[in-house]
Amino acid sequence: MQEIFCCMDHSDIAIDDFVNEYETFPIMETSGTSKCDYCMNVAEYVLKLPADHNIADAGNQNRSNDQGEID
Ligand SMILES: [Zn+2]
Repeated sequence: MQEIFCCMDHSDIAIDDFVNEYETFPIMETSGTSKCDYCMNVAEYVLKLPADHNIADAGNQNRSNDQGEID
C-alpha cells in the first residue's frame, strides 16, 4: 500500500509529491498516530492511492505511452 504521511505544514508538499509519483490525486484521511514523512511532527493526514488505481498498470503506461497520451 502506497501511503504518504504528512503534518498540516507539509500537506501541500505531500500532495505534490504524491501526484508527481503516482500521477493521480490521493485520498486524504486523518492519521493522528504516525509521523510526518517530512519532519518529526505527528502526521495529521495520510495520503493513499484511490482503490481503483492500479500501480503496475500506471507504471507500464508511463513508460510505453510517454508521448501518446490521448485518454
Ligand atoms: Zn511535516
